[in-house]
Amino acid sequence: MIAVLAGGVGAAKFLRGLVDVADPASITVIGNTADDEEFLGLHVSPDLDTVVYTLADVVDPETGWGIANDTYTTLEQAEKLGQSTWFKLGDKDIATHLLRTRLLREGKTLSEATQAVVEAFGVKCRLLPMTDDRIRTIVTTDQGDVSFQEYFVHRRQKDDVRALRFEGAEDARPAPGVLEALQDADAIIIAPSNPLVSIGPILAVPGIRDALVATSAKVAAISPIIGGRALKGPADRMLTSLGHESSAIGVAKLYADILDVLVLDSEDAGLASDIEALDIDAVVTNTIMRDAESRAALAEATLKSIS
Ligand code: GDP
Repeated sequence: MIAVLAGGVGAAKFLRGLVDVADPASITVIGNTADDEEFLGLHVSPDLDTVVYTLADVVDPETGWGIANDTYTTLEQAEKLGQSTWFKLGDKDIATHLLRTRLLREGKTLSEATQAVVEAFGVKCRLLPMTDDRIRTIVTTDQGDVSFQEYFVHRRQKDDVRALRFEGAEDARPAPGVLEALQDADAIIIAPSNPLVSIGPILAVPGIRDALVATSAKVAAISPIIGGRALKGPADRMLTSLGHESSAIGVAKLYADILDVLVLDSEDAGLASDIEALDIDAVVTNTIMRDAESRAALAEATLKSIS
């Protein structure tokens, strides 16, 4: 059994490679839900949906999120009706949020609603939200505190991030099956995701980090930082403004208590000895996932490093 901690686009690409080299039925994905928010009255789970759409091969290849060839008729009409429409929801995408929201309103848990979405899209991996409880990432900027999506989408990550907090985390419980998946795993992978706002909230759910420390399975992470920079998104600036190093070493330090292996890009081969000095095995390979072959090769190299 393989357990994977996952954020959005980077993680989804990695998982798409992983299912090409491992039996999807042996994979449990634990997804970040601290970015979930209500738009147009619908419960949107951006990271979970990015994983589902990518694994179902319906994801928009240009953006890495949303559904390919989607249309925006509903959003355009919502705007005419005076709704707030800065969060882009396509018509097909909205159908997913309608399904999830209906199930939640009927009293189902987020785990149950997620399971329904996974089945509807024919995805063969197990996908668990990190928690069924409400955790919200709050980003402190010089303009004040904002929700993650406000910072990420509406304000286009232009603010320097001064602090992060995961509201509700202290009282949250891991979703059913999460701790068992970590305990039963033969191998655990932290996908290439933003360590602070995608993996950070998962590790903030009480019990999850402890389970990763305690497990006898080997734990590997893939560095999302290459040559000091994020391939996309604000991870590099966020690491720096929050006092971490924007490098594979900064990533290794954030995970130092749980990691056996860090997979880092060939461009960062020179950092391997510093990683090893943290008592973490460094595996150097090409980690840029441009196509199906490079995704599968990265998944294969990661699995090999911990099997
Ligand atoms: P997002 O915020 O929805 O994009 O989700 P994630 O948190 O999963 O991913 C963001 C991080 O993934 C960024 O820091 C990227 O640098 C990293 N990333 C994206 N694509 C790749 C890739 O092909 N290889 C590696 N190593 N990292 C990647």
